[in-house]
Amino acid sequence: MAASVSYLSSILFKTLREAPADAETRSHRLLVRAGYVRRSAAGIWSWLPLGKRVLDNVARIVREEMDAIGGQEVLLPALLPREPYDVTGRYTEYGNLLFRLTDRRGGGYLLGPTHEEIFTQLVKDQVTSYRDLPVTLYQIQTKYRDEARPRSGVLRGREFLMKDSYSFALTDEELAAAYGRHREAYIRIFTRLGLDHRIVSAVSGAMGGSASEEFLAPAAAGEDTFAHCPACGYAANTEAVAVSVPAADPAGHPPLEEVATPDTPTIETLAARLGVPASATLKNLLVKVDGEITAVGVPGDREVDLGKLAEHLAPATVEVVTAEDFAGRPDLVRGYVGPQGMAGEAFRYLADPRVAPGTAWVTGANKPGAHARYVVAGRDFEADRYLDVVVAEPGDPCPACGAGLNLDRAIEIGHIFQLGRKYADAFGLDVLGRDGRPVRVTMGCYGIGVSRAVAALAEQTADERGLCWPREVAPADVHIVAAGRAVQTELARDLGERLGAAGIRVLVDDRAGVSPGVKFADAELIGVPTILIAGRGAPEGRVELQDRRTGVRFELPVDDVPTRLRKEIR
Ligand code: ATP
Ligand code: MG
Repeated sequence: MAASVSYLSSILFKTLREAPADAETRSHRLLVRAGYVRRSAAGIWSWLPLGKRVLDNVARIVREEMDAIGGQEVLLPALLPREPYDVTGRYTEYGNLLFRLTDRRGGGYLLGPTHEEIFTQLVKDQVTSYRDLPVTLYQIQTKYRDEARPRSGVLRGREFLMKDSYSFALTDEELAAAYGRHREAYIRIFTRLGLDHRIVSAVSGAMGGSASEEFLAPAAAGEDTFAHCPACGYAANTEAVAVSVPAADPAGHPPLEEVATPDTPTIETLAARLGVPASATLKNLLVKVDGEITAVGVPGDREVDLGKLAEHLAPATVEVVTAEDFAGRPDLVRGYVGPQGMAGEAFRYLADPRVAPGTAWVTGANKPGAHARYVVAGRDFEADRYLDVVVAEPGDPCPACGAGLNLDRAIEIGHIFQLGRKYADAFGLDVLGRDGRPVRVTMGCYGIGVSRAVAALAEQTADERGLCWPREVAPADVHIVAAGRAVQTELARDLGERLGAAGIRVLVDDRAGVSPGVKFADAELIGVPTILIAGRGAPEGRVELQDRRTGVRFELPVDDVPTRLRKEIR
C-alpha cells in the first residue's frame, strides 16, 4: 500500500465524548465515538475517512486471498430486475427482507440481497463448454436487506458490504474442491484480519444442497449461538444442532388416561399437580407454516426456538397463531392441546426428537381443564416430522459423542455453501461435456460480511480505552501526538513526513487548541497500534513510544524511531 501521512487538523474527523443513546454494542459505540462511521438512517451508515481505511484494508485482504485461489473479480449491479428472482421464487420467498422498487415504466426491480440468480445467468450466457469450468467469480459489493431489527451499528446493516463468490463446476468432486479452497482462503483471511474465529456446521435447509459451514467470531454482542463439544471438537450453530433419540417399544405403557386438572394453566402448575417433572410433560406450540396450522411438540421444560424453526422450514413462513386463528376452530382448545387424535388430522405435527416413538407423556386432553397421561408416541399419535427446534441449552448431548455441549455467542462473519444444482436447474445451466452431451452445472456460494468484519474486529479487540486494531487493518501504523507547543508540533510533523517517506502509514494529531489530555484519549480511542508522543522531550529530540494494546511506554531518540517502527511493522 502507498505510504501516507495525514493530519487530523485537516481530515474530516471528530470524536464524540458520548456514545449515541441507542448504541447497544461496544463496536457501535466506539466506531461512532471515534469518528469512523455516521448513521444516515436505521441500518444505513456512512464511512468517514478513518473508517473507510479500515473497511478498505479488510476488503484488500479478502481480495488478495480470493485472487490467490483463482477467483476472478467482477462487479455486478446492485439494482436488479425482478424476473430472475421470479424464476427461482425468491422474489416472494424473501418476504419483507427484500427491497422492491418500480421504475418509471412500471418495471419491477429489487436491490440485491445476494446474487445467485444473476451469477447463474451470467455463466449461462458466457460459458458453453466443459473446458471453461470450473470457474469461481466473486465481487465485493453493497448488499441490501430490509432487516427487521437493524441494530448494533454496522454489525447488521440494511445496506452492507459483502464479498460474495460463486463456483461453477461439472462434478460433485469439483464442487467439493472449490468449497475446500474457499474454506482454506477464509481461514487465511480471518487469520490475517486477526479475527478469532470458529468453523461450525450450519443449517443447509433453505438453500438446498448438502454441506454448509459458518465462520463465527466469538463475541458477546453476537446474535448467533454455537455449540461446541469439549470432548470431541464437534461445533455447530445451535440452529443446526439436532439430537437423536432412539425409538423404543411403545407397548408396555399403561393405557392413555384422562385426568381433570382445573387451574393448571402453566407447565409448572400442571407438573406440580400431577407430581411429575416438567420434562415429562409435552408442550404443543401452535404456529402457522405458510398459513397452515401446525403444532410443535417439545418437552415441557424446553422452549421452541422460532428462529431455528423458521430456518429449517424456509422458504415457508412461520408465524405465531393469533386469537383469530382459534375463532373457527373449536377443536383447538387453547392451553389444552394434545396430539392424540389430532396429529395429522387437525394440524400437522412436528415433534422434537426427544418425543421419540415409545416415549410417554402428560399432555393436553383437547378439553378445557383436562390433561391426559400415558400419551405414547407411536401408539397414541404419530409425528408428521421429527425436527430439533428447541432452544439449545448448555449440557445438551453432543450429537457426535454424547458429552455435554458448551454454548457461546458469536457473530457470523462468513458462510460457505455447497449449493448443488438448485439454481442451475432453475435456469437450465448446462455446458457441453467431454462426450458432446450437455451436463448440468453444480454450484457453490460463499459470503463474507466485509463491513460486519470491521465491527466484529472492534468487538473482539477493543478495550475500555477504545478501539485497538490489529496492524494489518488499522487506519495507520503510527499515530503521532503533538502535545501542543510549537517545538512539539514541528517535531511531530517532521517525524511524520520522515516515516511517511520510509513507507510507513502515519496519522499526525497536530490539531491546535486541543489539550494534550484530549489528544492522548483520542489516540487511544482511535486505536492505531503504535502511538508516538512529541511531548516534554521534544526540545532534546526525544519522543515517547506507546504500544496501544499493552500500554507499554518508553522514551527514545527521534532518530531511532524509523528503525524501531520498521521492526514493529514486520
Ligand atoms: P444473518 O444470519 O446474520 O442475518 P445471513 O446468514 O442471512 O446472516 P448470508 O446470506 O450468509 O447472511 O450472507 C453472507 C454474509 O454476509 C454473512 O455471513 C454475514 O457476515 C454478512 N451479512 C449478512 N447480513 C448482514 C447484515 N445485515 N449486515 C452486515 N453483514 C451481513
Ligand atoms: Mg449465513
